[in-house]
Amino acid sequence: MAENNEKNKVTMDKIVSLCRRRGFIFQSSEIYGGLNGAYDYGPMGVRLKNNLRDLWWKEMTQLHDNIVGLDASILMHAKVWEASGHVSNFTDPMVDCKQCKSRFRADQIDLNAPCPVCGTRGSFTTPRNFNLMFQTHIGANADAASTIYLRPETAQGIYVDFKNVVSSSRVKIPFGIAQVGKSFRNEITTKNFIFRSCEFEQMEMQFFCKPGTEDEWFPYWREQRFNFYTDKVGIRKEALRWHQHGPDELAFYAKDAYDIQFYFPMGWQELEGIHSRTDYDLTQHQKFSGKEMTYLDPETNQKYIPYVVETSAGLTRNVLMALSDAYEEEVLKGEDGKEDVRTVLHFHPNVAPVMVAVLPLVKKDGLAEYASDLEHSLREEFVTDFDTSGAIGRRYRRQDEIGTPYCITVDYDTLKDNTVTLRFRDSMEQMRIPVSEIESTIKKATKEYKRV
Ligand SMILES: [Zn+2]
Repeated sequence: MAENNEKNKVTMDKIVSLCRRRGFIFQSSEIYGGLNGAYDYGPMGVRLKNNLRDLWWKEMTQLHDNIVGLDASILMHAKVWEASGHVSNFTDPMVDCKQCKSRFRADQIDLNAPCPVCGTRGSFTTPRNFNLMFQTHIGANADAASTIYLRPETAQGIYVDFKNVVSSSRVKIPFGIAQVGKSFRNEITTKNFIFRSCEFEQMEMQFFCKPGTEDEWFPYWREQRFNFYTDKVGIRKEALRWHQHGPDELAFYAKDAYDIQFYFPMGWQELEGIHSRTDYDLTQHQKFSGKEMTYLDPETNQKYIPYVVETSAGLTRNVLMALSDAYEEEVLKGEDGKEDVRTVLHFHPNVAPVMVAVLPLVKKDGLAEYASDLEHSLREEFVTDFDTSGAIGRRYRRQDEIGTPYCITVDYDTLKDNTVTLRFRDSMEQMRIPVSEIESTIKKATKEYKRV
């Protein structure tokens, strides 16, 4: 059976290499030497990312009461970011090396040490604040008045549209607005693969509630969000933990804040934040826009600015989490005592890029045709793959490497009695079932899926 040692430890290098080899994630603009902090999602990666996104969307908007969706634009009025505080406060302290012009985060290097790039001593400028928002211009004039920013978070789009949503849909407080979308931050230190990139995706929900009730909703959302990862995404419980923001981490307006951390290959890092944000953002937008951001309670006729509990997750970080948690190099001992290493991604079937692979034992004697027809018939229900090249054992391993939970093998008996072999990825167990039971068997196994 399987056992693991240091050599088979999950490392970022192994994940990066598998992602490239199997079409999950590529460096952006690779043929031109690559662009730092930007990544492309390949055929498998885009499916994994979309599955995680769809699972979150369903969870938030379909399985909870009173949560509606929104898709705000990336380009917004520059005033939005003055109101939110991003123009003046969203900065990192930076130093430049006067010799080689490299730029570093002042809090991440020793200013008395030589430059890590060119080795020059005493070459750093004094630290100054560098805004993380990408600037661009809108319209024909490239002057200060036309300056806008690529949004550094999706949440502000929700606040700005708060009144529009209230007046156009029948939502009543307490209710939430959910949004998935791209955000941009000009990170100088991009590292750890897709963990911190300049262009990334967020899945955010702002839950608006009556002032004084936020302390009931805060623990509710913390529990909901944690259980989502263990129950729906299938992440191992021991790879997740809570981190409460201390006084030095807490934003000045925030009442309380917790992060869900995941044990990434580089250690414990933030995956999602659940924050009790008071009425700060809506109050700021009221101040800067001059428009009332209040809510009129239809029952009590009370008027107030709602309090907000935010759940803010990184979709791209979710992808890295799913890959890191799923990755295993399993050492198998054959009957002859020889060791063999199987690289396998233990994705929950809810997020696996391919659900079912149909494999004819051999290409000849009508087996490939039968298997191809069978694969077509399953496409309406499942994302499928069809593979005829190489020995059956090697084809199983290829599917293991992209995390396909179920393989169906068509052999000579299939032609006689319409039965196939169903192989389970995690246990590698096989069972013989009639073709007519493939769909129901897979659905049942998915519903009952537990990673061993
Ligand atoms: Zn230098």
